[in-house]
Amino acid sequence: MTEGDGQLEARLAEQEVFEPPESFVEQANVSDPGVYDEFDENWPECWEAAADLLDWETDYDQVLDDSNPPFYEWFTGGELNASANCLDRHLDERGDEVAIEWVGEPVDEDDRSFTYEELHREVNEFAAALRAQGVEEDDVVTMYMPMIPELPIAMLACARIGAPHSVVFAGFSADALATRMNSADSEYLVTCDGYYRRGDPLDHLDKANEGLAEVEHDTTTVVVDRLGPNGDDFGHELGDDQIDYGDLVADHEGAEVEPVTRDAEDMLFLMYTSGTTGKPKGVKHTTGGYLSWVSWTSQSVLDIKPDDTYFCSADIGWITGHSYIVYGPLALGTTTMMYEGTPDHPERDRLWEIVEEHEATQLYTAPTAIRAFMKWGEEFPDRHDLSSLRLLGTVGEPINPRAWKWYYQHIGNEECPIVDTWWQTETGGMMVTTLPGVKDMKPGAAGPPLPGLDVQILDTLGDEVEPGKAGYLTVQKPWPGMLRTLYNNDERYIEEYWAEYSDTDSDDPDDWVYFPEDGAKIDEDGYITVLGRVDDVLNVSGHRLGTMEIESAIVGVEGVAEAAVVGGDHDIKGEAVYAYVTTEDGYEGNDELRDAIVAGVEDAIGPIARPEQVVFTPDLPKTRSGKIMRRLLENIADGKELGNTSTLRNPEIVEEIQRKAKGE
Ligand code: ATP
Ligand code: MG
Repeated sequence: MTEGDGQLEARLAEQEVFEPPESFVEQANVSDPGVYDEFDENWPECWEAAADLLDWETDYDQVLDDSNPPFYEWFTGGELNASANCLDRHLDERGDEVAIEWVGEPVDEDDRSFTYEELHREVNEFAAALRAQGVEEDDVVTMYMPMIPELPIAMLACARIGAPHSVVFAGFSADALATRMNSADSEYLVTCDGYYRRGDPLDHLDKANEGLAEVEHDTTTVVVDRLGPNGDDFGHELGDDQIDYGDLVADHEGAEVEPVTRDAEDMLFLMYTSGTTGKPKGVKHTTGGYLSWVSWTSQSVLDIKPDDTYFCSADIGWITGHSYIVYGPLALGTTTMMYEGTPDHPERDRLWEIVEEHEATQLYTAPTAIRAFMKWGEEFPDRHDLSSLRLLGTVGEPINPRAWKWYYQHIGNEECPIVDTWWQTETGGMMVTTLPGVKDMKPGAAGPPLPGLDVQILDTLGDEVEPGKAGYLTVQKPWPGMLRTLYNNDERYIEEYWAEYSDTDSDDPDDWVYFPEDGAKIDEDGYITVLGRVDDVLNVSGHRLGTMEIESAIVGVEGVAEAAVVGGDHDIKGEAVYAYVTTEDGYEGNDELRDAIVAGVEDAIGPIARPEQVVFTPDLPKTRSGKIMRRLLENIADGKELGNTSTLRNPEIVEEIQRKAKGE
């Protein structure tokens, strides 16, 4: 860096718009601003651009069939296979190039990389093995696995034989596994003996077995041996209906399985949403629409090219890993990285070590990770040469401008555009974000909707809100990557996502509006700032406040690492603002910092948003995907029963926060 940090901070503070770096624009996959108008004028045929990224066995007859909204169908009549698109078609030109670069926990140094040729072989063998176990087209195969290569191999093997997969995040409980297998009538499970966490072996099969005991039908389970002799202490013995993955594959060495021809609208997979709200929903994604959507967004937003080494640090157990570790990158024939471990083991520079060693070209991660990096300090990235990076991305939560700028400066060295991508499990892929080779960036705002998408911010009556005012995010037209329904529950699909703003008796697609249940606002340039879930909007003395705006003001105060704001019951105000705050390393949660936080909120939003209480805590309760569990904090503020904390990554923190909130 050429200027002092102080000067740069000052410059960043006044300059809220960042142009994409020239060096990036010159080589970007998409750099023509005309793409927005072109797509609007040519809708829905514009989405042929996405379908053209795939190889079709049979061409589709129609881009969009909207005759029965909201059950839209895309690329109807078309036929293809997802595994053939992710593997076979790359073999001639890229067979020797690395498809998956797997970085294991540093315990045994056994990084494994798979060329397209090798991955193709593994997938074929496991596809043959699954078939031999009785898996047929349209049987749902559940996977309960951590970040090991056998997970994407199993997913692609399923795709090859037309069996939809349903991946359950390995950190979820036995109960969560059972609920999902029962709900999907899934008779097959692929899991593993255990895995490593911070260098130590962790039992996983025990938990899987506990879940299987609650499954109401007969099952067959394939168990990957991840730990080898390090797992001996767990004393696992496979049951009658359980088979060792290695043995099974050995029986099918060299097998080739012809990819099954799938209809564009055939189900590729089911994904149950994380369940931070309500009962888990089985989101159904299809082969043609989903695969073209993740391919197109990987190309135009993540700027993926075949020669890249692309690194997304999410878990494949989340939609982000499905779309942007496995399907999108592999469909484009690039090298996609997978990391088994955590960012702070053996040291807090682990991610930067990986980026340097593998010369990663893109990094896609979550705001919660960026805030942790910021809390640890820039000395960790500063130890490494990160100049291979060309683009940075974030997903999962709103990113506050201070964290955005830290990411931009300390990871991207001001030379990488950042894409702040708003989307959901249900949308299949990215929806609102900048095209990095075209649009300026505004820290804190995700950006405009992608070309071809019609996103509007509405009030409760369905009218568009003025720029700057809080409203609800809506999507006015269908898109190829959208969910098709909730598994076996069309009614709930309509109820959850459409009923709010649609005329549900109408057959006219113009009367149907998709409602993602997020609050948002839009500025004069059409940039959208997502304010968080609808439930995260507070009502203080009749004023509607987004928790995210208050959090962003708090995190803007020097010394604050992370903040969560919730509304607690208040006799006079209705709701009052309660803030839970973690400090950066080297800072203390004292009265001085508390005063600075209150002043910061008053300055940024006004006295109305003044926190009633500021609680300093070493950590915030997070879901396994790193999202703050505000519901729990709300109960703490109200002194209520806490309910289920089993999907938390750090359940031990809850009691401590309770004590601190009571001033103990
Ligand atoms: P559940 O639906 O089960 O409650 P979830 O909504 O956390 O779980 P996901 O589909 O993984 O499950 O997350 C989507 C949500 O994450 C969005 O609706 C939005 O609230 C939030 N989100 C994702 N990306 C962004 C972003 N870039 N900016 C702001 N919010 C985001
Ligand atoms: Mg959701």
